Amino acid sequence: MNQMEQQIKDFVRGGMSLFWQRQLMFAGATVVVAQFLDVRTALLSYLLCLLSEFVDLHISKQVLRWDGQDEAAAERFLRLLTMSSIFSASAVSLYVVLVAHQEGQTLHFAPLFFLFSAALFAAMNNHQLPGVLFVRLVIYGAAFLYIPIHDLLAARPPLTSDLWMQFVTVLFVLYFIIDCSRVFLRFYRNGLMQIDSLRAERDRAEAAYHVQSQFVSVVSHELRTPLTSIKGALGLLVNGALGKLPEKAQRITDIAYKNSNRLAMLIDDLLDLQKLEAGKMVFQMDKVDLSQLVRDSVDALEGMARTMDVTLRTHGTEMPVHVRGDHDRLMQVMANVLSNAIKFSNKGGAVDIRLEKTNARARISVTDYGTGIPEGSKERVFGKFTQVDSSDQRKVGGTGLGLNITRQILEGHGGSIDYVSKLGEGTTFFIDLDLYSAHR
Ligand code: ADP
Repeated sequence: MNQMEQQIKDFVRGGMSLFWQRQLMFAGATVVVAQFLDVRTALLSYLLCLLSEFVDLHISKQVLRWDGQDEAAAERFLRLLTMSSIFSASAVSLYVVLVAHQEGQTLHFAPLFFLFSAALFAAMNNHQLPGVLFVRLVIYGAAFLYIPIHDLLAARPPLTSDLWMQFVTVLFVLYFIIDCSRVFLRFYRNGLMQIDSLRAERDRAEAAYHVQSQFVSVVSHELRTPLTSIKGALGLLVNGALGKLPEKAQRITDIAYKNSNRLAMLIDDLLDLQKLEAGKMVFQMDKVDLSQLVRDSVDALEGMARTMDVTLRTHGTEMPVHVRGDHDRLMQVMANVLSNAIKFSNKGGAVDIRLEKTNARARISVTDYGTGIPEGSKERVFGKFTQVDSSDQRKVGGTGLGLNITRQILEGHGGSIDYVSKLGEGTTFFIDLDLYSAHR
């Protein structure tokens, strides 16, 4: 939205929001004038004000429907709004001048106060378009001066009379209103400038984020290719496919192989994260049987569990439970949660994987009886690059990205993940997904 459009729309929205307030003021003024002065003047002027309100409403509705694209339309609306302001300010001024005439040569407390209220109202609410405010104030100012000057010319009173005092007071009030308008105008301008600088700041942050995200993506892809060949070569060495290594070389090669695997995992996680955050991860949604998925994921991690001397126990996977999801991404979710449960279990421990249906949702719970998570750690558990135990003495490895990615994947499925845990006793992670039929 450009600044002129913003100003025009702010002006119109401000005007519309005060619609009923203005009607109340007009009606109140009419009642007062009809009661104390002349019914005909009151009604005539009231009708004129209503007509100007009607014109104003019509233009305002057009402005609110305007999509802001067309520069020529901005000019046209500005002209229309200026003209309708001239009309309504003239209607109000005429009203006041007629009342003053009815009163004769005297102190015009009521009409001048009406005029003062109208001018202050304009200063407070019309500052978005300085040109329009200026025109309105010029008309009110002319009426303001006309009333006491007309009396002075007709009565030609001595300088000490009340009429002269009224004239001087009017000058003072006029100055006050002009000053108020300047203050409101300045506030509004400052607000606009702040919005502009916030927008520029946001654009800069977005551009920087884009560059950083591209950088992560390019670097990760470039690292992955050579790493695949390093991992492959080390795998062959470790498994003895190229002959038996001396013991010392075998030990070093084992470590190098493990680390190359960790590095590959980190790169995969980084790429996933970058895709998720850039909104570029596409989910291949399909009908997925969670019973099968749980069994497959348990099979996939059986090797890791055996190495760590942990038993995996599955429950509730006898019957199919269907959800709508991306099979591979849901496998990734299970691998993250299960591998954590195994990593944080005690030697000889067990992990229970339970599948249940609750109302329209399916729930997978993964319970371990290991280290547990201290209270108040949710942000670190689901954060990026954060681990609950970030000390150098940490026994288990990991990137600290797994659960963050897991949560984002599940949110992309309309699902959720949470946990309950007791330090020293173990942890249960819950994965909730809508059942397939609930999507129909
Ligand atoms: P990491 O790659 O470190 O496992 P995750 O995002 O998967 O990263 O997990 C973040 C942290 O949450 C872990 O480092 C660990 O501190 C904690 N955590 C996750 N699962 C468990 C669990 N089952 N038991 C204890 N702590 C856990």
